[in-house]
Amino acid sequence: MAKVSIGLRGWRFEEDEIFTDDEELKPLDEIPEDPRERLLRLVSLVEEPCDVCYLDYGEAEIHRCREAEIVYGEPDGEVLLCPEHEPDLLYWFREEGGSDHKGTVEFADRFHEWVAAGNEAPEGYASVEHVEEDPDGLPDLPDQQEVQERLEEGFEGERIDILELAGERADEDEAVTDEEVVESDLDLSTDYPSDR
Ligand SMILES: [Zn+2]
Repeated sequence: MAKVSIGLRGWRFEEDEIFTDDEELKPLDEIPEDPRERLLRLVSLVEEPCDVCYLDYGEAEIHRCREAEIVYGEPDGEVLLCPEHEPDLLYWFREEGGSDHKGTVEFADRFHEWVAAGNEAPEGYASVEHVEEDPDGLPDLPDQQEVQERLEEGFEGERIDILELAGERADEDEAVTDEEVVESDLDLSTDYPSDR
């Protein structure tokens, strides 16, 4: 079964869970809960800055931050990275105990603390050994309006605000169960094989 990243590299979806045979996005109520949650979260993450750039420059110099191209971690505990800063996350994950926080919403906080303390990957630390993927070759993430329209399809004319929905989900996530944590997994081991 083909796995695809959309919008940002990192989170991977079973292609047939989110797309129809015509490669259209499925109605949201036909998408299983976990991928739906990630999909909704992704919509709010595209065009956000890289976390490490942001820690370097802050809000005052946000124009100097590179846009994130990669997402790791769990919804609401995710790390956003530009390609230049991806080695920092990988080094932290593999060598500095980051993998202990795999699958938890604290994942991002622990990484941010490590970066904020002045740590980074050693010069030349290898990036992911993935087959080089053309970022422009990733399927486009449906835009917020399209997802909004999908949401409304399932609700007789009732307008559902996607941002409000995302907020509600964030509250629910605080009550995440151990079982969900165990089930969720940072997919670092697969290293983005080509889907071709
Ligand atoms: Zn960066």
